[in-house]
Amino acid sequence: MTLYSLFGNPVSHSLSPRMHNLAFTRLGIDGAYIRTPLEDGAHLREVFLNQKLDGANVTVPHKEAAFRACDTVLGIATSIKAINTLIYTKGAITGYNTDAPGFLRAIASFGIVRTALILGAGGTAKALAFALKSTGIAPVILNRSAPKLDAFIAEGFTCFTHENFSPASFDLIVNTTSAGLSDEAFPTPEALLKTLFNKATYAFEVIYKPTPFLALAKAHGLTCKDGKEMLLWQGVLAFNLFHHNTLAEEKIADAMREALRLSS
Ligand code: NDP
Repeated sequence: MTLYSLFGNPVSHSLSPRMHNLAFTRLGIDGAYIRTPLEDGAHLREVFLNQKLDGANVTVPHKEAAFRACDTVLGIATSIKAINTLIYTKGAITGYNTDAPGFLRAIASFGIVRTALILGAGGTAKALAFALKSTGIAPVILNRSAPKLDAFIAEGFTCFTHENFSPASFDLIVNTTSAGLSDEAFPTPEALLKTLFNKATYAFEVIYKPTPFLALAKAHGLTCKDGKEMLLWQGVLAFNLFHHNTLAEEKIADAMREALRLSS
């Protein structure tokens, strides 16, 4: 039997074990996916190796620590410098980022996007910024405060805080802030968001549930999506990487949709 785990702090709320374990069952694979709560990311490599895992996923706040724990990093993760998927082969750990391509799969049903504004400047914003850049879009980053923007400026992204931003027109507005997760807050002042939505076509929210950001976007007639499909596709792509990309993506997706109770 192969063994996989989710590293993070906390991990008890995560839907990933349910998604991966149902995929094992539906695809007839002898594998198990557990949770590993971890306080100190510096111990990630040691714990991963001690547990004799075949692979793992990594969530908040250890994605940057996971990058440092790898022997090799492949794909877009080399730019993002944050890892959510680890694979153990022949004594070495290889790291990938499936949040970025997972996001691109989630917005694939939107029409043509030429311009995008990302709200927030945390780890998820970094993954999504590089994802959009990989498709030829130069996203603009808007954050409530300046410090986290430095890492984006160093990578050549155009960045603003709420204070120095003059709203332009963007096809897509993406909320990667945690505003709306446990409160009823907007990620920017409401008037600014209304101005942006008046000129936009699509809104994407990384949080998995309805938020004030999405409600306002819908009220402005935008085509909207929450983070469930991104969660689905980052999981599908990770599961296929665990199996050396030998499986049919749609079969994994069907099992994971069932775990998330999503319609196809
Ligand atoms: P970080 O802590 O790295 O960054 C959070 C960002 O949100 C910062 O830019 C912060 O601004 C901003 N922020 C926080 N609260 C507010 C607020 N009340 N108003 C305005 N801005 C705010 O978080 P992550 O990037 O790791 O995660 C962000 C979200 O993405 C989480 O809710 C997480 O659940 C979700 N997520 C979803 C995934 C999916 O598959 N759908 C995958 C991964 C994450 P400042 O710099 O000023 O503090």
